Amino acid sequence: MIIVMKKGATEDEIQGTVARINELGYKEHLIRGVERTVIGAVGDERGKYMLESLVTLAGVESVTPILKPYKLASRESRPEPTAINVNGVVFGGERLVVIGGPCSVESREQIIDSAMAVKAAGGHILRGGAYKPRTSPYSFQGMAEEGLKLLAEAREKTGLPVQTEVMDSSEADLIGEYADILQIGARNVQNFSLLKKVGQMKKPVFLKRGMSTSLEEFLMSAEYVLSQGNPDVILCERGIRTFETATRNTLDLAAVPLLKELTHLPVVVDPSHATGLWRLVPPMAKAAVAAGADGLMIEVHPKPSEAFSDGAQSLKPKVFDQLMRDLVPFANAAGRSL
Ligand code: PEP
Ligand code: MN
Repeated sequence: MIIVMKKGATEDEIQGTVARINELGYKEHLIRGVERTVIGAVGDERGKYMLESLVTLAGVESVTPILKPYKLASRESRPEPTAINVNGVVFGGERLVVIGGPCSVESREQIIDSAMAVKAAGGHILRGGAYKPRTSPYSFQGMAEEGLKLLAEAREKTGLPVQTEVMDSSEADLIGEYADILQIGARNVQNFSLLKKVGQMKKPVFLKRGMSTSLEEFLMSAEYVLSQGNPDVILCERGIRTFETATRNTLDLAAVPLLKELTHLPVVVDPSHATGLWRLVPPMAKAAVAAGADGLMIEVHPKPSEAFSDGAQSLKPKVFDQLMRDLVPFANAAGRSL
């Protein structure tokens, strides 16, 4: 339910409304706008008729049901876009955000070189996996805490905030001590206990769409995080599985403008995992920006041919640097800067 307070409603009236929402067994989410306050009341669907009585309270203008199954993630609950500030880098603002870096953290030299290359090209966030979700148990599984320490070192050297994947709730707190953004990978998008766990943490969550996740399911996963009290969720379209095998996945670009309609959360595109082929990354990155994405996530490796994972889709620093320049007119055409 969305409870819109009257213009100029007093703090007492707002708190009185919140108290009544809580009495009815609902949790309030306060959205304080410039002109008026809006309160989202979420909880058991069955009591929604009782919430309708809130309209009789002092200071309340209207009470409207949120029709979408995802409540807090929906545009209905929050018409203005959500901006997420990560140490000065803002997702969902006018400026595009580019996250760059290797698939996995492999060594000190590799991650420091990658970080310097991302920074020199004008990238904003460093990515790198320390806990890797690999299809084969015999493949490189990541450097774990050692990798987190190297990411922190790379942040210190370059000033870039760092993003890394959380695969399991048991490692989340440790990762939270090092990372600026917690990534939930495609394979864990419906790991509801993990979503609840990062929803209780105080770091932004970068949520990747699963290879067979519908947009509604994707937004319900975002809702899990939001419902736990963490308002900072960044959505990432990273390709879905189709009959086509020429590319690793099929980039669902229509998801970008549609998600922007359905939700206020920032939307980022990952053309690296979406295509699996480095040559396709620049054109798809440009297309994503043209479609209205708030940012890009691009795999960059100093020596892709020697990468422990995803070398075929990783850009060399020189190619990444060129792409950053080539993106400028696309950003401008979409009304954004880079
Ligand atoms: C990644 O970004 O490193 C990754 C594993 O991607 P995805 O979860 O989208 O497969
Ligand atoms: Mn990868």
